[in-house]
This record gives sequence, structure tokens and C-alpha cells, in this order.
Amino acid sequence: MEEVLIREVGLRDGLQLVKKILPTEKKIEWLNMQAFLNFKEIEVTSFVPEKIVPQFFDSEEILQAAKSISGLTSSVLVPNFFGAKKAFELQAEKINCVISASESHNKANINKDIKSSITELSEIVSYNKSLENRSKIGVAISTSFGCSIEGEVSNQKVLHLVEKIIEIGVDEITIADTVGYANPKQVKMLFNSLIRLVGNLDIFAHFHDTRGLGMANVLTAFDLGIRKFDSSLLGLGGCPFAPGASGNVATEDIIYLFNSMKISTGIDLKDLIILCKNIGKFFKSEALSGKILSAGIPKNFN
Ligand code: ZN
Repeated sequence: MEEVLIREVGLRDGLQLVKKILPTEKKIEWLNMQAFLNFKEIEVTSFVPEKIVPQFFDSEEILQAAKSISGLTSSVLVPNFFGAKKAFELQAEKINCVISASESHNKANINKDIKSSITELSEIVSYNKSLENRSKIGVAISTSFGCSIEGEVSNQKVLHLVEKIIEIGVDEITIADTVGYANPKQVKMLFNSLIRLVGNLDIFAHFHDTRGLGMANVLTAFDLGIRKFDSSLLGLGGCPFAPGASGNVATEDIIYLFNSMKISTGIDLKDLIILCKNIGKFFKSEALSGKILSAGIPKNFN
């Protein structure tokens, strides 16, 4: 049976635009419940300064809680060397750095040009190599399919950035459609070149459903051989520097997609819906984009 890995990013990408601060106990409850449902990998928090995104005031505590869950790979997002150092101190299993393919988004998001971000990434990777307990290092390439500030982002730009990242030596790359601009044809073209370029390096696909093409893009990437996907419970998510770029693909919808096609996710959809209803109580004022939660599971779904 074909298998996919669904990495939950709700506690990071999902929460970064939510104004209401989710209490630490609730985040830990969400984390534990999702790990209990057999999610193998969760991006649990972000090490951005609290004054920029107050939601992540408790990032250290959340990472510690995640690390105590056996069998779970937890990752944290870091915007810079300072954040990475904090994550190294806490011996985070996986650290996801972020660089945008578009110069203006990188500037808005992490206040650096791409060149400086690449230099900083190599410093993070070198620092990691000097440690006794090393973390895995991933890089998410934001705005890989277009940018809400400068518009078009060419495949060449993304591939060139990926080449530099491979030279530095990381463990995985995430291709992110941060602002929901991608269409299946674009996905096909970029991933085809990317797969040839990266060899055995792990690729995650990270799609937003901002304009309704999230699932079509997921399926296109799957057809090309991608087996690792990011998604967010209830379709929460967005980018603070991309107005209107709401909604990751909803975890319950992506699980429904693959389970219904008999592609193993390892997750029981009925149990997941119970979790969505429980967590959803906290997000009544948010615009949620998931479909399966409002429509329900079809009668003939097995
Ligand atoms: Zn995202």
C-alpha cells in the first residue's frame, strides 16, 4: 500500500495569525491528542521573538512537552541564528529555517536579503556540526510559486536557491506556497525539475488553499512522487507578511483525500474529526477553510 507522511503545522503556521492566545495547556493538549492519533511529525512552535508574534510566548515549554512524547518527531521553525541557538540549547530534534524565494518577502518576513539568509543558514549548519547532539536541519522555501509583494517568482529562482541550500548541506527542503498562488501546472513544472536536482534529499510540499487549489496541488505533487506534505488542522494558517494569504490545506481534508484513495496516512479520519471539533471550539471567530468538517464523512466511506 502506498504511504504518505502528513506533517501537522497547525501549532506553528496555523496559530501565527490567530489573535487570541491559545493557553499553553490547550496547545499541549492538542499536541498530545494529535500524537495519540498517530501523527508521526508535528511542527510544534516557532522561535520568533514574542514581541513579533505573541502567540509563541511559550515556545520553549511547548518544545519540551513535544520532546517528551515518544515516537513523535517534533520540529520548530526558526527565523534566524538567534532562534536556532535557542532551539539547539533545548536540543530540538529538527529545526526548520526559512528563506523566501522572493527578495521582498524575505525582507518583510525576516528583515534580510536572501544572500544574508544563505550566509546565516550556513552558520546555523556549521554550528550544528560543532555540537555533540546534533539536530536535523530543514529549510522551508517560502513564496516558491509567487509572492504577494512582487508577484511572479520564477522556477529558476527557486531552483537556484535550492542548489545553494544543497551545497550548504541540510537534511530536507520544504517547498512552500506561502501565499496560495500555485496551480497544478506550475507544481508539475517546479517539482519535476526539483526532483531531478535534489536526488535523495527529502522534500516536503507545503500548500495553502487560499484560492481553492490546495488539494489539486497536493495531488499533482503526489503524482510526481512527493510523499511528504504539510497541513494544518481546521485549515488554520497564514503569513503575517502576506495579507489575505489565509488557510493551509486542512489536515482533515488531506487525510480524507488520501484515505479515500486507499493511500495510507496511518490516521483514522473519524477520530481526527472528534479532535477537530474539540480544538475548533477555540477558533469560533476564525474563518476556517476545511471542507470535510462541515460536510461530514460520506456514508459509504470505509
Ligand atoms: Zn504556510
